[in-house]
Parts: sequence; structure tokens; C-alpha cells
Amino acid sequence: AIKSSEEAIKIEEKYGAHNYHPLPAVLSKGEGVFMWDVEGKKYYDFLAAYSAVNQGHCHPKIVDAMIDQAKTLSLTSRAFYNDILGKYEKFATEYFGFDKLLPMNTGAEAVETAIKICRKWAYERKGIPETEAQIIVAENNFHGRTTTIISFSNDEGARKNFGPYTPGFIKIPYDDTEALQKVLEENKNVAGFLVEPIQGEAGVYVPTEGYLRKAKELCKKHNVLFIADEIQSGIARTGKLLAVDHEDVKPDMITLGKALSGGVYPVSAVLANDEVMNVIQPGQHGSTFGGNPVAGAVAIAALEVIRDEKLAENSMKMGEIFRKELNKYIENSSVVHKVRGKGLMNAILINDSEDSSTAWDICMALKENGLLAKPTHGNIIRFTPPLVITEEQIMDCVSIITKTLDQF
Ligand code: PLP
Repeated sequence: AIKSSEEAIKIEEKYGAHNYHPLPAVLSKGEGVFMWDVEGKKYYDFLAAYSAVNQGHCHPKIVDAMIDQAKTLSLTSRAFYNDILGKYEKFATEYFGFDKLLPMNTGAEAVETAIKICRKWAYERKGIPETEAQIIVAENNFHGRTTTIISFSNDEGARKNFGPYTPGFIKIPYDDTEALQKVLEENKNVAGFLVEPIQGEAGVYVPTEGYLRKAKELCKKHNVLFIADEIQSGIARTGKLLAVDHEDVKPDMITLGKALSGGVYPVSAVLANDEVMNVIQPGQHGSTFGGNPVAGAVAIAALEVIRDEKLAENSMKMGEIFRKELNKYIENSSVVHKVRGKGLMNAILINDSEDSSTAWDICMALKENGLLAKPTHGNIIRFTPPLVITEEQIMDCVSIITKTLDQF
């Protein structure tokens, strides 16, 4: 067994590919809003696995659903039916208000799936000439790490030396409906607009109020699919079930992942209505694990927990308290100049340049003080705790964060 953090970091360093740069916390246990490292130090988790653990670590109801199903039937593949998938699809489509669901495993796969459906819809329903379909995306987007998805990223680290890139994407500034309108008017071959309702990895960038509504209107006018990537912003993270709900927008397609399983199992999905989803026929898309019984049982339990424990409401309330307290603090801070976010999807902006190490240094100090968070850039720290956090815990965390910022 691993006996120390140092030992665990050393073997990962030697035997694992170096595709991440983790904060040096080696965790061995989680419960609710807390995680413990191998030395037994207890931390507040203020990342929640990039919003996958919205329901809190090792939620007993979700874990039990997983164990029970794993002991009964874990995988059939889609070569056969299983007795959970249909039940899950009915539950989830009613829960989110769409006709149909296509099950996958990871977020990036859900986005890839949405792109394929969108293109097929464009050729078979909209009548765009084959191979000509364009999908509009936003600058500074993050939708995953596959070859196609990094093709329309503008993060050099994610892109460089992974070409040739997949064509068919038009990048416009985020939060800019004029730019969207211009492309829609000038280009007859636009099939869809793929957008994060709040940009997560970009540093919790919240668009202007009304942006999503206007964007959806423009898409509708031009017969273009409005595709909301809710993988990070969805499932109660921002204080509503979906982030688009803040503007009463109904996307043509959504992608979900992360908290769809409460972080215990990889589960992702694309949801759409029949006129879009029915373009996919047997043999045209799939995945060995997508729609497996464990995933279905876990996802039902994870969504029930969100609903039964009123986590959207709690996220809204706790988020307001958190921003109010931090805003009070930064009035007299020379280190932080902005707090932004919705619900419990928040970030602080540090008074330093993008390529500085200040945000990293602050996260290291937060770790010392018992709270784990991660920079999204050199000068932005994201704060996204599990949504089960209580007011007392939020106040405790505000005190850890402000005390830590005082050191800088
Ligand atoms: N889309 C968004 C908005 C995300 O935030 C992420 C992950 O951070 C993804 C897609 C990719 O998900 P995954 O890492 O499960 O492939």
C-alpha cells in the first residue's frame, strides 16, 4: 500500500504519462464536501472533480445503486437489450424535457456525438450539401480533448502538434450575438452553434444576461441547431437544473456528463427531440459501454439525489452567500479584483498576469489551510464545491480563503 504522498507522486511520475500537472495532494478518501489525503489531513473539496461530484463524495444512495447493479448485471453491450437502459432513458428525458437520449460515457464523447448528429441533421433535414456543414463555436471554449474537439480550441497547449485538424468549425467571440448574427447571415451552410452557457475552463466566464436567449432566437431564425454543452454548467451547478434555465432557453440539443453520475462512474449523454435525434439509425453511432446497466442505475440515482436534496436551490443560496462574503472581502484586497459566477460555479480573478504563478501559489497555500482548489489560468481560481455544502461550511471556507489571501 502507498504510505506517503511523496511515494504516490513518485510512482505516478515514473509510470504514468505526464498529461496532467496535479496539485501535490494525494487523496485516499472522500465523503460529502470533504477529502482526506494519505497522511490523514482533511480538506474541503472546492473543485468537486470539475463539477462531477455535485452530489458530494461517495453519496451512499448513488454508491449503493452502483454496487447493487454491478452485482446483478454490469454490461451487455448494445448487441442486446438490457432492463435498465430504457428505464433510465425514460427517467432522464422526462427529467430534462426532451424526447430522446443517446448514452455515452465521457463528456468529450457526448460532444463528439452532438457534432455528428448536428452534421447529419444538416445534410438530411436542412439540405446542406454533403461535407459542407459548418458548426459555429466560441473562442476560449472547452469541450474536451479529442482530435476533432481540439481542432476548434484556441488553447495552444491543447492543439499544438496534434494536427491535421478537423475542418468545419467557425470560431466567433463568446458573448457576442452580433458576431453570431453576421456569420448566420453570411453563411448558408451553418448547421449548429455549440456553446457553453457559462464557460468553465476559460475561467467561469459568465456571459451578459440575455446572451443565450438572443443566440437561441438567432439560431431558430436561421434554422440552425442551438447546442448547449452543459457538461460542467448543468445538473444544478449554477443554481438551476441547467444553466440555460436562467434565461428560459430550450436548446435543440444538450450534452451532459460529469455529475450525471455524481462522480462515481463515467456517464454522459446527448438529449434532443425526435426531429433531431431520429437522424441516427442503427450502425451509425455507438459505444461498447454507452448505456450499460450500471451507468443507467447510477444516473437515475444521481439525478434523484439532485431533485430530492434540492441541490439546485442549495447551490443558488450558497452561491449567493459565497459571492457576497468574498465581494465584501475584496473591497480592501490588492490581490483579488473580481469574484464572478452563478450558483456554486464561481471564480476569483487575481491581480496578476495570465502566465504568473500567483494563482498556483494561492492554491498551494489554500491546501496548507485545508481547502483544495485549482487555477484555470495563471490568474484565475475556480471555486466549485459539492452542492451539498451547508451554510456553516461555506462560512468556514470563506474564512479559510480570506485568511489565505491575506498571506499574499
Ligand atoms: N465540455 C465541457 C463544458 C467541459 O467542462 C468538459 C470537461 O471539463 C468536457 C466537455 C469534457 O468532458 P470529459 O473530460 O468527461 O471528456
